[in-house]
Amino acid sequence: MHGRDRAVSRRSAARIFFRAALCASAAALCASCGRSDRQKAEETGEELWEVTAYCNCEKCCDWEKDAAGRPVWSKGPQKGKPKAVGVTASGRTARKGTVAADTRVLPLGTRLWVEGYGECSVDDRGGAIKGRHIDLWFPSHKEAKEWGRRMMPVRIIEKGGGK
Ligand SMILES: [Zn+2]
Repeated sequence: MHGRDRAVSRRSAARIFFRAALCASAAALCASCGRSDRQKAEETGEELWEVTAYCNCEKCCDWEKDAAGRPVWSKGPQKGKPKAVGVTASGRTARKGTVAADTRVLPLGTRLWVEGYGECSVDDRGGAIKGRHIDLWFPSHKEAKEWGRRMMPVRIIEKGGGK
């Protein structure tokens, strides 16, 4: 009876050790891919951009419903005015591949490549998007939150001619 107890506890100790080792290696992997991205950027002279994510929701796009249930801007100079949800600054429907940028840095129509997101184009702008910062559109808030905020290189394929 005692022998069996010892065997069980030894097995669970091994399991705990295995799990700890697994966590440690996963953490090391994540740390190394973050570093290698940064290293790669430094080696090639690429600049790191702040890459965030948004969706059409009221949290991401500063809107709320008025008393009649119509979407209106919740803040900024347009506060209280009707807001067309999901329509970009260039008048297009936001979709996968839509990016908001500081259009003084990246004019509307600029085509970009973002690792992990793909080819996309600057179609929108945002009050909080300034300088070397882009905001990627996702179809759901969950996906936008999962992307979070990353510092990474962004490849400019072609600068657009829009304003
Ligand atoms: Zn959202």
